Amino acid sequence: MKFQSTRGEHQGIELADAIRLGAAPDGGLFLPEGIPFVGEIDGADDTPAFAEAMLQPFFAGSSLEGELASACRRAFAQPLPIAPVDNARPTLRSLELFHGPTGAFKDFGAQFLFSLLDTIGQRSAPLTVLAATSGDTGAAVGCAAEGRLGASAVILFPEGRVSAYQAKQISCWTAPVQALEVEGDFDDCQRLVKAAFQDRALSERHNLTSANSINIGRLMPQMAYIAAAATRTYRETGEKPGFIIPTGNLGHGFAALYARAMGLPIGPVILVTNANPALSEWHKSGTYTPRTSLATIANAMDVGAPSNFERLQSLSDQLGTFGVELVDDDAIKARIVADYRTSGYLWCPHSATAAEAFARLPEAEQKARPWLACATAHPYKFADVVEPLVGVSVTPTPALAAIDHRSSRAVPMRASLDELARFLGTNDIQEDAA
Ligand SMILES: *Cc1c(COP(=O)(O)O)cnc(C)c1O
Repeated sequence: MKFQSTRGEHQGIELADAIRLGAAPDGGLFLPEGIPFVGEIDGADDTPAFAEAMLQPFFAGSSLEGELASACRRAFAQPLPIAPVDNARPTLRSLELFHGPTGAFKDFGAQFLFSLLDTIGQRSAPLTVLAATSGDTGAAVGCAAEGRLGASAVILFPEGRVSAYQAKQISCWTAPVQALEVEGDFDDCQRLVKAAFQDRALSERHNLTSANSINIGRLMPQMAYIAAAATRTYRETGEKPGFIIPTGNLGHGFAALYARAMGLPIGPVILVTNANPALSEWHKSGTYTPRTSLATIANAMDVGAPSNFERLQSLSDQLGTFGVELVDDDAIKARIVADYRTSGYLWCPHSATAAEAFARLPEAEQKARPWLACATAHPYKFADVVEPLVGVSVTPTPALAAIDHRSSRAVPMRASLDELARFLGTNDIQEDAA
């Protein structure tokens, strides 16, 4: 399988190059040259093996084909429970995507991508993943990079603009991971990362690469967990489950539509946003207007212009229909409280958007099939929002509790490219080894 850009200038690209480059040089995003049809796959209870079978067509003939099995074992080491939520609403199930090392579904993509980047880096020269983050991605990337030989991670986050817990989760990983606490806001961090990539000499000296949600290496594992959960539910109930997916940059939302087009037993798909309106406006009116992002309590979804929208649009005639629902902060809070009171199930603010979208479905639709609401993060990560609403303290997963016992080590930095360049010079894997 080869890959091509959504903008058409770049075709016949090797998987390893698509992953190494992140975005296509013409400004587009990489997609497989055709949607491979795989149909149903057996053995969905063994998620790593299932993922390997499902993703095999993308790796066929690639220099990374031999790495697929170990990338799947690493990315799908965490359990993937489909939990009942409420006896009174048996068709609503929570697909718990938060049992990984940093408590959000970003772990699947980061672990998978880093396995591949590590191999690519070990075969040529070590890579440096540069990432600006305001939350879950930074933690997942740092964790996935720890102990690697072929790819290091440098994570920039804005001083004083992330919660104390988020800062801890970003800065607690050991070599070759370094967290930089930037004097400035998230936009300053992003500007710095962009400037570093645009500085040809700097970028080539350190083999800079990115791990953000447009990388095809993050999308593939997201297709696989959706497909595995769909297949398990289909085998159990005889119905193709619907999926309700909290959406920001359209990473796993797009992945679900793509997996359905590959022939996996996935029913209706509903993409849910927080108050950021670009997607729902487009879905209603056909006009897409990118915006600056609005801050909400589901902050990992605070996206004004979804970066994977271009992929969705370029395949619009092949992906089938889907719904879009917008859930604002008041509705998120009300849903967290209501579901906790009636069933004891506690959603994080992002996952609550999916539960709310289920509640808004007509009753006949709710009962027509099982619905998997994607629970994208553990509520412990957002305890500052959730605990005051429900008046109990949230118990962490063992993995999240383990993070609490780590020490953090962020380096403070001014928002200047010179400082970043100086820092990169001291952090390279190859220079450490020399
Ligand atoms: C990233 C994230 C989302 C949004 O996912 P996209 O793939 O960007 O659409 C939702 N919830 C949580 C907790 C996240 O970290």
